[in-house]
Amino acid sequence: MVKKTDGWDLKRLLVEEIKKQGGWVNTHAHFDRAYTISPKLLNQAHALMERKWTLVDPMKRASSEEVYEARIERAVRAMISQGVSACATFIDVDPVAGLRAIKAALKVKKKYAGKITMLLINQVLKGVIDEDSRRWAEKALEYVDIIGGNPSKDRPQPRKHLDIVLGWAKKTGKMVHVHIDQENNPKEHDTELLARKTIEHGLEGKVVAVHSISVGAQPKKRRKEIYKLMKAAGLMVVCSPSAAISMKPLSYRTEIHNSIAPVPELLDAGITVGLGCDNIGDIFQPLVDGDMFTELRFLAEACRFYELDQLVKIATINGKKVLGI
Ligand SMILES: [Zn+2]
Repeated sequence: MVKKTDGWDLKRLLVEEIKKQGGWVNTHAHFDRAYTISPKLLNQAHALMERKWTLVDPMKRASSEEVYEARIERAVRAMISQGVSACATFIDVDPVAGLRAIKAALKVKKKYAGKITMLLINQVLKGVIDEDSRRWAEKALEYVDIIGGNPSKDRPQPRKHLDIVLGWAKKTGKMVHVHIDQENNPKEHDTELLARKTIEHGLEGKVVAVHSISVGAQPKKRRKEIYKLMKAAGLMVVCSPSAAISMKPLSYRTEIHNSIAPVPELLDAGITVGLGCDNIGDIFQPLVDGDMFTELRFLAEACRFYELDQLVKIATINGKKVLGI
């Protein structure tokens, strides 16, 4: 319980309480491309997210296993130095990165096993419907702790994408983290689809929606229906605030809201929400430095949510639930 004292220093109190609860849990990152921002990539940082998925290809192609390892290690050390006890990072496994990044990540995971719990998730940046890309994702399954999904890459077949990824989860017994509803776009209804697919595949409680920003762009009545469905599916949510608020403006009419998952409403509906730093110093988020307090603060401000005990839970126990630890 966060206590009120004289000269209330909320940052200090939150950080202390988070420490008491075992430390920060960073549920979402992409350590394999951390610190890769360059003048050339910075010039392209304004591009649409989908475009960035391929703009990183030359950097990936040029990265040896050793280079990947150095980057991932630097990010992991940055986590340990601020008291992160557990983290999960997506790692590209696809025709461009091959297995170089995931093998590097495994080495770092082993090296720091006594200091931090590190879970690996495969990023399917090239989708899973293209045969070559799917083969690489299948190869990744034995290396990862959690299976990753990214159905927007396989538009217009997000259902097929989810069937394949959830099928792997059934076969392996592993959890699934799916990048979803990332655009703050009222025309996106993928969190709802993910909840339905989770129930269809009998994976209740094993699936996590990463971002779910577009849920906030739906009218209130629709949001309530989505929460009911998410609750029935045992769907959990990862919020990465810096990434969320950076989504590009779209020319659609919708309810006025900040570009972030509606965290207070999700918590009210009994849905577990965890915190992630997402990209660090790359083309997606050139200025993000992986500081977990900054992320927690952005969540609080963007949602106008100052329930301190809930914020501590989001940064700690909820994160463990989201990671299945
Ligand atoms: Zn991500």
